[in-house]
Amino acid sequence: MIQFSKVNKWYGDYHALVDIDETIAKGEVVVVCGPSGSGKSTLIRTVNRLEDIASGTITLDGEDIHRRGVDVNKLRSRIGFVFQQFNLFPHLTVLQNCTLAPITIGGARPAQAHEKAMALLERVGLAHKANAWPSELSGGQQQRVAIARALATEPPLMLFDEPTSALDPEMVGEVLQVMRDLVRDGMTLVVVTHEMGFARDVAHRVLFMDQGRILERASPDEFFNHPQHPRARQFLADIR
Ligand code: ATP
Ligand code: MG
Repeated sequence: MIQFSKVNKWYGDYHALVDIDETIAKGEVVVVCGPSGSGKSTLIRTVNRLEDIASGTITLDGEDIHRRGVDVNKLRSRIGFVFQQFNLFPHLTVLQNCTLAPITIGGARPAQAHEKAMALLERVGLAHKANAWPSELSGGQQQRVAIARALATEPPLMLFDEPTSALDPEMVGEVLQVMRDLVRDGMTLVVVTHEMGFARDVAHRVLFMDQGRILERASPDEFFNHPQHPRARQFLADIR
């Protein structure tokens, strides 16, 4: 589904992604972990072109997504992205947050977008908050709306960048549960997270990054029980 081939990126002189080669298959659940500054966010942000790349290619279902002429809005409607800081539109209601992209980018009729959004809000347990403002919701609720919003354009792929890191501890579980439901439904997920319990339970594969490189790729079992790379061992020791 996504293929990175020799992808490099610099921020000024800093080599943020170094010769990234990786393939993520349809239906796979991949957790990306690694120390702060290792390039995890940069990596997933290149997939929906929140970051550009200097060389190499990234393809989504065979299409080179960084070539000129790609409609970035259309691309983003095919890739749901959930941020650490929710990023809901504060001046739109919960429901409007979920209907905006389907109407403006997907060309859906308002009634149809509305119905779909209500079903998604139902799915994340927030149909009763459809007419609330984001500021009236808890962090965990806002993040569940953000997930519903990302799903509204029916993307085949969802990217999450530390979706629970900004939440109070008691709200982490409800967001992880929504993500587990997506996994159960067979969605393709790439998740940057420090929630190692989630990685252990639901990831098909773990990628460990350090200094812009993917140093290890393994099943959760191999990664947590038999990490190969010294830096991966150090990382696991530090977070335990
Ligand atoms: P964290 O766990 O703290 O979120 P990360 O693994 O997501 O870290 P990135 O945000 O991808 O790391 O950053 C990788 C490196 O690139 C870091 O050294 C960071 O300082 C640098 N970097 C990221 N964004 C920019 C930017 N816009 N300009 C300059 N340097 C940047
Ligand atoms: Mg990050």
